Amino acid sequence: MSVNVKQKLGNNVFKIDPESHISINHEICMSRCTAKFCTFVCPARVYTLEADGRIHVEHDGCLECGTCVVACRSDALTWRYPRAGQGVQYRFG
Ligand code: SF4
Ligand code: SF4
Repeated sequence: MSVNVKQKLGNNVFKIDPESHISINHEICMSRCTAKFCTFVCPARVYTLEADGRIHVEHDGCLECGTCVVACRSDALTWRYPRAGQGVQYRFG
């Protein structure tokens, strides 16, 4: 039986760091970025655009792939790895 990507990702375990490892400069997002790349490049859908124009960050689902950092052209994102022992733990099964 074949296993799809969603099923494979479902094997992973998240140890949630209550302190977000991602922060956003909302002023930059709202004044300089019309494309909102982060809202569609993130495989975990961590970023969503709110009705008031701000970007909402749901850091606990982050897969630590780094795509958002590359995609954000305006340096509005500050991203670091979650603190030691926290974040995603990949399980290959
Ligand atoms: S891509 Fe960067 S500048 Fe644009 S909305 Fe996302 S975080 Fe803000
Ligand atoms: S590192 Fe990857 S999974 Fe995490 S927020 Fe950025 S794009 Fe999404």
